[in-house]
Amino acid sequence: MQHYPVFLDMTRARVVIGGGGEIALAKLRLLLKTDAQITLAAPDFAPEIEAHTPRVTLIRRSLLGSDLQDARLVYAATGDDAEDARIAALGREAGALVNVVDNLDASDFLTPAIVDRSPVVIAIGTEGAAPVLARKIKAHLEEVLPASLGLLTRIGKGFRALAEQLPQGARRRAFWSEYFDTAGPRALHQGGEGQVRQALDDLLVRHLDAAAPEGHVDFVSAGPGDAELLTLKARKLIDRADVVIFDRLVSPEILELARREAVMISVGKEGFGPSTPQEEIHRLMIEHAGQGAHVVRLKGGDASVFGRLDEETEALDAARIRWQVIPGVTAASAAAASIGQSLTRRGRNQSLRLVTAHDMQGYADQDWRALAAPGAITAIYMGKRAARFVQGRLLMHGASPDTPVTLVENASRVDQQILPTTLAHLPQQASVLAGPAIILLGLAPKAAEQAIEIQEQAL
Ligand code: SAH
Repeated sequence: MQHYPVFLDMTRARVVIGGGGEIALAKLRLLLKTDAQITLAAPDFAPEIEAHTPRVTLIRRSLLGSDLQDARLVYAATGDDAEDARIAALGREAGALVNVVDNLDASDFLTPAIVDRSPVVIAIGTEGAAPVLARKIKAHLEEVLPASLGLLTRIGKGFRALAEQLPQGARRRAFWSEYFDTAGPRALHQGGEGQVRQALDDLLVRHLDAAAPEGHVDFVSAGPGDAELLTLKARKLIDRADVVIFDRLVSPEILELARREAVMISVGKEGFGPSTPQEEIHRLMIEHAGQGAHVVRLKGGDASVFGRLDEETEALDAARIRWQVIPGVTAASAAAASIGQSLTRRGRNQSLRLVTAHDMQGYADQDWRALAAPGAITAIYMGKRAARFVQGRLLMHGASPDTPVTLVENASRVDQQILPTTLAHLPQQASVLAGPAIILLGLAPKAAEQAIEIQEQAL
């Protein structure tokens, strides 16, 4: 984020625009929506600019340093590079923030694309990288945000003090959600502004009477990393959570979906490596849900796969706290998808094993004979360090050293890596991986498999 977004209070702020033509006019139109004191300086002015006097002050000559006293923002908008540079230098000398129109490098700030439902204002910036995208996003938001949003927000603002009778947190949020989602728009539609005030009164009485909500815990599967692989339900619950308790494998883009006021607690669990003791995780969930919070326990992949889910649900049962599990995409599914393969296939493997190569004591023991059988498919979780051990056991139980194996690191993430290999080379390949990885035993990438088939046919 090279450009940091802020909303400037423009009441009585002084803004000076150097320029009097079309470019200056474009900036002026937006600034006229504010209460700023606006001055333009140029030898000549377009008639549309002249029409805005006396709301704006016009200085009929090129801008001078003395015009910039107390200016907070200065726009260099003459369209002439040398003149713009001169104005920018004067602006900086006067201690103002300078924007040179259409010159990102010479500017201190950018004017974003804006969706205006004042007091709700949405600013969209792409740091100059993709103005077309900014316009598309703006067009989309213009469609989805009702024109009445500004009015509802203004009326709501006047009611904020009264709404503070509701305790801060989930209950007050439920009140405002209902106002903006249903009660407000309905009242506005039925009877205009007066009806909206009445609706707010009625709604508040109802919410004050309602019993305090019971805290609960949702075990939400965060999937393998790509936020688009979240279920709709997961998205909704993350968005509503008061407290999010998350593992290290949950990707940052998914954590971004939580509300800014949500309490975010990292419990840093990741295969080996440092982790929060399980009892501490139980204590955190019980403490927050016990205080009435909506807790989301966010787990990488599918919450029910190697996620110590049962220990956590049992702890909640013992504390009499309600919970539910939201299923999701497990890493093995994402890894198989990345190589275009099925996890099961008629005539090849009727069963699929999800195994972990390590348990709490060390390397986990398995039914090695079944894993070594021709055609068997196994997805190994947490298997990087145990790769040599796994290889030894499989060879000992009769697996061919040529058995295809594919390692998929960071499946579904931007830094996804696919390493096709064979059982003979598994340990060497596994040792180069740094991120979370799935070992798919018995599967080669589909494209590679087809290539081999074609080669064989040619022989
Ligand atoms: N509940 C998770 C698994 C937790 S165990 C799930 O269903 O996916 C942690 C292991 O999952 C990691 O060591 C790694 O083997 C695997 N894993 C998790 N995310 C992964 C990803 N994006 N790519 C590859 N493997 C991943």
